[in-house]
Amino acid sequence: PLTTGIVGLPNVGKSTLFNAITQAGAESANYPFCTIDPNVGVVEVPDERLQVLADMVNPNRIVPTAFEFVDIAGLVKGASRGEGLGNKFLSHIREVDAIAHVVRCFEDENITHVAGQVDPISDIETINLELILADLETVEKRLERTKKNLKSGEKKFQLEYEVVERIQKALESEKPARSVELDEDERSLIKDLHLLTMKPVLYVANVSEDDVSNFDQNPYVQKVKEYANHEGAEVIVISAKVESEIAELEGEDKQLFLQELGLNQSGLDRLIQAAYKLLGLITYFTAGVQEVRAWTIKKGTKAPQAAGVIHSDFEWGFIRAEVVGYEDLVASGSMNQAKEKGLLRLEGKDYVVKDGDVMHFRFNV
Ligand code: GDP
Repeated sequence: PLTTGIVGLPNVGKSTLFNAITQAGAESANYPFCTIDPNVGVVEVPDERLQVLADMVNPNRIVPTAFEFVDIAGLVKGASRGEGLGNKFLSHIREVDAIAHVVRCFEDENITHVAGQVDPISDIETINLELILADLETVEKRLERTKKNLKSGEKKFQLEYEVVERIQKALESEKPARSVELDEDERSLIKDLHLLTMKPVLYVANVSEDDVSNFDQNPYVQKVKEYANHEGAEVIVISAKVESEIAELEGEDKQLFLQELGLNQSGLDRLIQAAYKLLGLITYFTAGVQEVRAWTIKKGTKAPQAAGVIHSDFEWGFIRAEVVGYEDLVASGSMNQAKEKGLLRLEGKDYVVKDGDVMHFRFNV
């Protein structure tokens, strides 16, 4: 499964946030594909559509879909030179599919800031520079190797050299690899480099508990937003401390507490949804009397592979899928009415599943 790594300098609130994630999170036991590891938190993806579907079919249970956050603590300045536990942390980042970069936007004189003062932009740049330096090393090694291969005269190596060199130039001017525009072929040439700065990023601005309701007043948040805007990244503003309090509550208590804070959704829920999107994940549903359930697939997944997420038999024995779009189903009021209106489609093995599709698979066993 795809994972999002939580990174950031020490004392910015990563552990507090990660604790909120595990506290609010799902038991891995309910999601067999999830890892059982103290550094991994399983989160359920909040999705209002589940309840709407459930109201239609009255199932025995509702099962949201889930994915994982990984806590990558301990990244410090100098990591790319092996300082702290540098290389180890960088290798952990290499394994994740997206990065949630936590930055401190709260003042608290009792909590030391590693650089002596709260300065989110400098924090972001410190971490990003470590990732860039690590990538630069990877890229330089590859260039040397490709240079040797160039002698073979194969066109593939020529192209590879050119692409890697473009990335090197970007890194040298302290820009992440993801800022380099690449087409699909070029991308596949450098995929095996597993560059850290190629991974999609979102920023998590951690504000003081006093700021949760009107964080737009917080000047640090403004700066982070400007910075992120520049690279087309999203910013999620939260108070990790408040999130850890919300995470202890459930149902009505949680709603009441959120109301008191003037929020309609917890910051954690916003973070979960943003990370899900960042990973390029979408949701399809199955809706039966047993259960109404959400399933995660990567955008672009075809029907048989989407069925395979439920069970490998569904993929191998795939015949067809009955599909109705969520909006169509809701507008029709029921599965039968959707069928009468001709909104229930039969789709074959080349059908690309869309977010919100309600699916029923036909398969051979
Ligand atoms: P990490 O080193 O990034 O994992 O940071 P921690 O989560 O351990 O947080 C460092 C310190 O900052 C702890 O004492 C937290 O209680 C405190 N902290 C985290 N978030 C907030 C916040 O939103 N407001 C305040 N005042 N303190 C916070």
